[in-house]
Amino acid sequence: NTYAPYIGRFAPSPSGPLHDGSLVAAMASYLDARANNGQWLLRIEDIDTPRVVKGADHIIMQQLQSLGMQWDQLPIWQSQRVSRYEACFVQLKEKGLVYGCACTRKEIADSAIAHQRHEQGQYPYMGTCRVGTNKPIRAWRLIMPDEYIHFEDRYIGLQQQNVQQEIGDIIIKRADGLFAYQLVVVIDDHDQGVTHIVRGQDLLDSTQRQIVIANYFNFKPFKYLHIPLVLDNEGRKLSKQNHAPAICLDNALSSLEKAWLALGFASFKSHSIDHFWSQAILQWANRFGL
Ligand code: GLU
Repeated sequence: NTYAPYIGRFAPSPSGPLHDGSLVAAMASYLDARANNGQWLLRIEDIDTPRVVKGADHIIMQQLQSLGMQWDQLPIWQSQRVSRYEACFVQLKEKGLVYGCACTRKEIADSAIAHQRHEQGQYPYMGTCRVGTNKPIRAWRLIMPDEYIHFEDRYIGLQQQNVQQEIGDIIIKRADGLFAYQLVVVIDDHDQGVTHIVRGQDLLDSTQRQIVIANYFNFKPFKYLHIPLVLDNEGRKLSKQNHAPAICLDNALSSLEKAWLALGFASFKSHSIDHFWSQAILQWANRFGL
């Protein structure tokens, strides 16, 4: 085929329609794929079942299409991939990298405080249950290495984090069977053949955890570009929890222009959606072309 060896993706959680913040993430991933002659895939991240709003997936798909963003393959839904996640979970378990954890939120916080390891309301998990527990299991944790993990972000540059020191062993599955985002996102990106991940900076410090997981499976490393977040007037991330309104499709062009400005580019005149994209792709290629 004529595609460059680039596969990108947009991976919305269907907890509601796209808002101005999620549109920026969609736009950045779309522009990066198109500017680099790549494919752009869509994945519906509906694993976090309690937050999923019925029908939101189809609304998001309609929103993307009316804004001129068309994905290149059939979308995948995480809710249909649970047996694949289970098989991967078993693989990690067989490698001796997984253990059951019985700690409550409070026990985790108390233990971090006792070790003087809490910072700004963040409590790393101190590994209490690594030696085993006879209390009822609340979650399954994956052992994180005690070493710095580095990656070069295409937007912000070199990043490093010692996941064990800053986060501790991470939950990959809850006792009720729910798989964690950190695990499934890595399996999905690999299975969809994704090469380049473009997403918001709220996920910047999840990246090292995901790199550790990818390494455990010997997956080919992904390239990353984390774009700045859109903040509301109070400086909070625009999100469904903060009641960000759905994007306005009555004037699709002005919604696109707003997202474009949020990405830090200068405004330009465009007379149609197609014209907007052709101009924006050229400008993106100048700045982020590979
Ligand atoms: N589903 C995640 C979100 O909506 C995005 C995951 C990702 O891009 O890695 O924030």
